[in-house]
Amino acid sequence: MDSSNDGKVEMFFLPWIVQRGHMIPAIDTARVFAAHGAKVTIITTPGYAQLFQKSIERDQSLGHEISFHTFKLPTAEFGLPEGWENLLAGSLGMMEKLYLAIQKLQQPIEQFIRERRPDCIVSDMFHPWTADVGARLAVPRFLLYVTGLFSLCCEESLRRYAPQDKVNSDAESFALPGLPDDNIVFTKSKIPYWFTKKGTGYGQFADNIIESELKSYGIIINSFYDLEPAYAEYFKNEMGRKLWLVGPVCLFNNAAEEKAERGEKNSIDEGTILKWLDSKQPKSVIYVSFGSQSSMVPEQFLELAHALEASGCPFIWVARDMSEYGQDEKEKKEGSENRGKKLPEGFEERVTKSGQGLILKKWAPQLLILEHANTGGFLTHSGWNSVIEGIGAGVPMITWPFIADQFFNESLVVDVLKIGIRVGNEKWSSYIWEPKVNVTREKVEAAVKWLMGGGGDEVKEMRRRVKELREKAKKAANPGGSSNADIIALINDLKSRRTICANNF
Ligand code: UDP
Repeated sequence: MDSSNDGKVEMFFLPWIVQRGHMIPAIDTARVFAAHGAKVTIITTPGYAQLFQKSIERDQSLGHEISFHTFKLPTAEFGLPEGWENLLAGSLGMMEKLYLAIQKLQQPIEQFIRERRPDCIVSDMFHPWTADVGARLAVPRFLLYVTGLFSLCCEESLRRYAPQDKVNSDAESFALPGLPDDNIVFTKSKIPYWFTKKGTGYGQFADNIIESELKSYGIIINSFYDLEPAYAEYFKNEMGRKLWLVGPVCLFNNAAEEKAERGEKNSIDEGTILKWLDSKQPKSVIYVSFGSQSSMVPEQFLELAHALEASGCPFIWVARDMSEYGQDEKEKKEGSENRGKKLPEGFEERVTKSGQGLILKKWAPQLLILEHANTGGFLTHSGWNSVIEGIGAGVPMITWPFIADQFFNESLVVDVLKIGIRVGNEKWSSYIWEPKVNVTREKVEAAVKWLMGGGGDEVKEMRRRVKELREKAKKAANPGGSSNADIIALINDLKSRRTICANNF
């Protein structure tokens, strides 16, 4: 262990790059630990470091010991453009190349860990190989998931009991056995394909993640105990994992400037966005965003535009046109994945002129918008960060999941927490660009109208519940709260390991 760190525990963070849904919570988590007195080094690439440099410098000016240690990706070797990790998202082909390029960093990263001997490695779930590095070097490895407990428990139920193998069609519903709630019902069409077509595609990698989970010293999750208490107990007792719940880490961003710049430049400056919001009635605006990686095909995109306009409800829509989407030269020529998205004729002009809509073509200051008093609903793809940020801001949701853990998160929001409604997407769809409308404009319009006015007492009750959760979230993150206690406990655990190790030599 480094002797120059004044007795502070030294934590190495190894986040995943490119995908903001992995980067943002990892940075927030690293910053939270540094604020609690750990010496934190974030191991990453220069492009990634550049995106978060300002936040880290701000923390350093407050005396927190946090810094980047960067390794250059061998981009040229894999035909990736220099610094492309700054792009918002990549095609499957590009992600595969990125994955291979990152594997090349394993050896230098291991060497760095060997030299510095930190007290632990906190590794994103997409770096399962760090479990073996930790074991080789006797450095505890923590797995940092970018999802919540509920989805992990649902996946465990699918693995253990395979209810999906006992139905006759994709549309036949089945309950997930063994979970604390008995009303968790799914269909095959709503679960990730690797639970039905085992060993295919991402499935093998998902198995590696689980293997690395079992080899880890512990699991760190951006959630809080009071949000999913029964699932925290299930995860610890039924699944036997050592768990630290440290969230919502987004609440660590207190200053307006921290909320405004999280890993990307905003499409429109935040002053203009706030002014637009200020001009609306309390809780009247619906914020529409599908995370950092747009999964919507152009046909569905058009349908959504029509629905928003027809709802008559004021909206902010992050309508990304995919210009910041990484593709290699061959993919660009074929135009296979990146089909441009177009808004309906005259749409933008109409909604802007009438003041009904504010359209952001690339990136929104999500936390600022969600926390504004005039934001009253969130139409979300149900990515975990968006869900927990919505809860942290006390905003009810309309869920529109597409891929990954999003259908599980939808079920948590709608069936367990009862703080949102489904828009009605029935189909888990991977990055295959099927030119098809899965949710009609009528369904979207009805859901928006219901949540933003027509739902009466039921919506009032939802608002009350989500506000209550917001208070619990704040309590958890503040001194004396459960997440705060878990952060301190983890640091103390590492300190006591040091003493044990020192006594053994
Ligand atoms: N985000 C943002 N502005 C945007 C889109 C996304 O700040 O315009 C942030 C959002 O606040 C969240 C992250 O990007 O922290 C997206 O993570 P999530 O898990 O919701 O979705 P993913 O992008 O992983 O699908």
